[in-house]
Amino acid sequence: MDSIFTKIINKEIPSKIRYEDDLCIAIDDINPKSQIHILVIPKKPIININHANDDDQNILGHLLLVCKKIAEELNIEKSGYQILTNVEQGGGQTVMHLHLHLLSGNTLKL
Ligand code: AMP
Repeated sequence: MDSIFTKIINKEIPSKIRYEDDLCIAIDDINPKSQIHILVIPKKPIININHANDDDQNILGHLLLVCKKIAEELNIEKSGYQILTNVEQGGGQTVMHLHLHLLSGNTLKL
């Protein structure tokens, strides 16, 4: 069954798209945990980082570079931001389709 993010990628569910290219889409999180909370999602439905393989190296690097690009566009590259990915239920993952959270505004203290 398609994940909710695959439905967003296929435009079957509306979302606020911040960025899109052949490999990924970036959308506003529907339930933001920070002033800026964007999800960067590969179009390939990788479940999470545990399910990524060597062939996904380019996609994984690309997701980070898209975070940087968005941060520059939002002028937060100097003030700062966080990039986080939850892995499996015990790691807080609720949508089983890999995504990077790009967060800025109120920093999660780790
Ligand atoms: P995680 O808990 O790491 O799997 O993150 C899933 C994130 O997806 C949560 O922050 C949700 O608020 C967000 N989310 C769930 N459904 C949607 C949706 N339809 N549009 C945008 N974000 C969503």
